[in-house]
Amino acid sequence: MKCPYCQSMMVEELLDYTVDYEGHTLTLEDVPTWVCEACDYSQVDEDVIEAVEDMLEHLDTVQADPDELA
Ligand SMILES: [Zn+2]
Repeated sequence: MKCPYCQSMMVEELLDYTVDYEGHTLTLEDVPTWVCEACDYSQVDEDVIEAVEDMLEHLDTVQADPDELA
């Protein structure tokens, strides 16, 4: 994979990935991330983003809203 900005080679590293989701900040560890060695641009693998979105949707159905239970 090449960097979209400088066309240098990108390497895959396992990094923390922080997601903002409806006011919540979630940090995922060891997420496969493409990192450009030349300009430090980083991009999380698309498959990972899809998996994270699936997980967040699932979270939504699992976590009950405390206000609705009261
Ligand atoms: Zn680059």
